[in-house]
Amino acid sequence: MNLKNKINKDNKGNIYIGIASVLIISFLILSICVLNLAIHNNQENIESMSSDEYNYVIQDYKRNIPIVEKEAIKELSEEVISKKQPVDDSKEEIRKRCDEKLEILNEKYYNQYHIKIVSSVNSVENVSEPFDIRIKTYISSVKGDMNYKNVEENDINIEGLKDPIPFIYCGNGRGFSYNETCVMYGESLSDYLKDKDVDGYEYYINATAPLIVRKCPYDPYKHHGDGFTMKTCRNSGYYHESADGACYLCRLEGKSGCGHYGFETFINPQATTLFNLTSACGSDHVIFGDDTYPGIECIYYSHDGINEILFLDPNGHRVKYGMNK
Ligand SMILES: [Zn+2]
Ligand SMILES: [Zn+2]
Repeated sequence: MNLKNKINKDNKGNIYIGIASVLIISFLILSICVLNLAIHNNQENIESMSSDEYNYVIQDYKRNIPIVEKEAIKELSEEVISKKQPVDDSKEEIRKRCDEKLEILNEKYYNQYHIKIVSSVNSVENVSEPFDIRIKTYISSVKGDMNYKNVEENDINIEGLKDPIPFIYCGNGRGFSYNETCVMYGESLSDYLKDKDVDGYEYYINATAPLIVRKCPYDPYKHHGDGFTMKTCRNSGYYHESADGACYLCRLEGKSGCGHYGFETFINPQATTLFNLTSACGSDHVIFGDDTYPGIECIYYSHDGINEILFLDPNGHRVKYGMNK
C-alpha cells in the first residue's frame, strides 16, 4: 500500500467515526430532553390538584387520625404492662406519643400527595362513656389556594386493650402469669391481701381475672343473677361501668379507683366445695383500693359439687348485679 492510499483510507475512517459520534450525541441529547419533559409533566400533575382531590386526601387523612391515636394509647399501655410500672401523667404521655405518630403520618402524606399537613394533639380527656377517651387534634393544611384548618374530636374506644392494673399491683408477685385473655395470679394476689391484713386472703390463691378490657353487654346489670348470665359474663371476662372503678387513663397511672366515671371487673377466686366463705369483695377497685371491704360467697355456677364463686358485699355489688335473689 502506498502512502497516498493509506492517508485516504484513514481520512474515510475518521469521517465515519465523526458521523457516528454526532449521531450518538444527538440521540443522547434528544433522550435527555424527552426524559426531562416527562419528569416535568409528572411533577405538574402532582402540583396541580383539583379541590375535589384535595378534599378527598384531607378526608382520608382525618380517617387515619383515630387509628394512629389508638395505636399510641396501645403502645403506652403495652409499655406500662411490660415494665409493670405506672406513668405519672397518662394524658401527657398519650399526647406526646400521638404527636410523634402524627408527624410520621404527615410525612407520608407529603411524600405521597405533596400536601403539607401540620397537626398536633390539643387535649386528651375523659368522657361520660367510660370505655372512650376523647382526643382533640388540631390540623392545618395549605395547598396552592386551597386550605383546611380544624380541631378534630375523636372518641377512641379502648376496648380490646389490656388492663394494666393486675401487672402494676401483682406483676412481680409469686406465680403471676397470663395468657391472651386471662390473668392468673398464682400466690401473688393472696400475698398482696395478706400484707393488707385481709381475712380469707387464702381464697384468692390461684385467682383469675380478665386481661382484655371489654364492655359487658348484659345491661341492666341487675340481670346478672338470671340463669347463666353471670357465668357467661365471667367466662367472657367482661368489664362493667362503675362510678368507683378507675377509668383507663387512671389505670395507666396505677389507680384502681378515681373520681372519673370508670369501670370495674371481678377477680374470680378459685372454685371451691366450701360454703359461707368470706373474703375481700372481688371487684377490682375494692381489692386494690385503700379500704378493702369484705364480701360474702356468691355461687353463680355449680358442677359436680364444685362451686364457681365471687365474693360480693351484700348491699353494694350483690344488689347492683342482681346476685341477692
Ligand atoms: Zn357482666
Ligand atoms: Zn380516672
